[in-house]
Amino acid sequence: MGTLEIERAQALLSWYRIQRRQLPWRDTGERYDVLVSEFMLQQTQVERVIAYFEAWMNRFPTVEDLAKASLADALSVWSGLGYNNRCKRLHDTAKIIASDGWPTSVEGLEELPGVGAYTARAIAAFALGKHVAATDTNLRRVLSRWYGEPLKGRALDVAANQSLADPARDWNQAMMDLGAVICRNHDPICNQCPVGAWCAGPGLILDVPRQTKFEGSARQVRGAVVRALVRRAPQSIVELVAATQFPTSHVLEATSSLATDGLVETEDGVVRLCE
Ligand code: SF4
Repeated sequence: MGTLEIERAQALLSWYRIQRRQLPWRDTGERYDVLVSEFMLQQTQVERVIAYFEAWMNRFPTVEDLAKASLADALSVWSGLGYNNRCKRLHDTAKIIASDGWPTSVEGLEELPGVGAYTARAIAAFALGKHVAATDTNLRRVLSRWYGEPLKGRALDVAANQSLADPARDWNQAMMDLGAVICRNHDPICNQCPVGAWCAGPGLILDVPRQTKFEGSARQVRGAVVRALVRRAPQSIVELVAATQFPTSHVLEATSSLATDGLVETEDGVVRLCE
């Protein structure tokens, strides 16, 4: 780390100690809390996740509780948060951890279902005390602005490793908070930025992939089918059509793709959530 990186990291961490967001999965340092929150935060805004996270921890307070529960039980708490495949992968991951123990390295974490490079590094930094950067969208945007050019791939890794400071947990969370609150995508508040003096590209706008439209999407029908089955299961296709108010062809397609993903099963003409 050079002088610039050290001064910038000190300014960032000083700001973070005063301005940090209070989030229910922070500060416990519990691996399971971090695991659950990171699965929920994939493709979902922090504000929406908070209530689901609290309900989840009430129902499944430990990884063993989740591993013992059925998938149908897990979906009953998850349903409404969206992208129900995440719930199945989290449930599968809990079963593996309850049986084999927690991985102790980034590489080991990456072998768990639904745990990609970012999530593995977030768990490693937040809960295992590893000196690694978890480069999510916020970190990429902030680092790109610091370096004055859109970063990706190897250049992004180099920038993250050059800038990463101890404790890595605080540095990563500070970067995420800065990106969420100050260094926002379309309207960064540069005149309130604690690290503006060390930023080479104030206001640099990056192309961020937009989420596909939800209304009328296959994802919307899948979510409606799961919610209907959480309320009452099993149900026939005719009943699911009535419950979801979607055309039969849409419900059949959604049911088929949910079955392929291991979320529902069909037997004797009725559909139920997988156990
Ligand atoms: S000066 Fe502006 S662009 Fe640079 S890090 Fe701060 S908020 Fe982001």
